[in-house]
Amino acid sequence: MLKYKIVIAGDKNVGKSSLIMRFCDNIFKGDMKATIGVDFKRKVIDLKGEHKDFSLELNIWDFGGEEKYRTLFPSYANGAAAAMILFDTTNKKSLYGIENWIKIVDENASSNVIKLVIATKIDLKNLREVSKNDAKNFCKKYDWCKDFISTSAKTGENVEEAFVYIAQEISKENLQFCASCGEIFNRKLKYCQFCGEKVEIEISPL
Ligand code: GDP
Ligand code: MG
Repeated sequence: MLKYKIVIAGDKNVGKSSLIMRFCDNIFKGDMKATIGVDFKRKVIDLKGEHKDFSLELNIWDFGGEEKYRTLFPSYANGAAAAMILFDTTNKKSLYGIENWIKIVDENASSNVIKLVIATKIDLKNLREVSKNDAKNFCKKYDWCKDFISTSAKTGENVEEAFVYIAQEISKENLQFCASCGEIFNRKLKYCQFCGEKVEIEISPL
């Protein structure tokens, strides 16, 4: 099984643990306890490739967003294939907070890390402080971040979609399809690890 590490970043209370819990266990708890230090969950995700269907195991790392735990984040971001950076649509300050998280990810994860901004709690329409346009304009500042995905861990809206998107992007970045034996393997390899066939040309990702 192909395994990849994903880190979930964002200020305290933006909904990191709730998003992960909705995705991994399909539940939502209104009285979520603050995450102490770091938490960890796994989930296998099934994807459709251009040539064949395949599965990835996502190892999802959840961080306590409190200042005192931030010092841990750089070392945990090591080796991450992707980072989800969350802001809370009911808390404008958390939008500005993503700037710092992006910096930390850029400084510590590999250069080809996939980054995705996630807007959370869109079910709380009456409490909304960040409009779609505000968030879009803010995200435009970063050339890697064209757009963001709006989610609700409470209703489940777009939660699965966000993780599927991340998994697809990880696959495009890291995997290739062997035209000779039909297996999927690491893009960095010059020979197929299953049949030994040389990769003559860059095989299109999956
Ligand atoms: P974390 O500190 O980033 O891990 O945030 P939590 O997942 O612990 O969530 C903080 C609070 O926001 C909790 O009371 C959650 O129940 C609530 N929350 C998280 N996501 C949502 C959501 O999508 N909708 C609503 N209504 N509340 C949410
Ligand atoms: Mg948490």
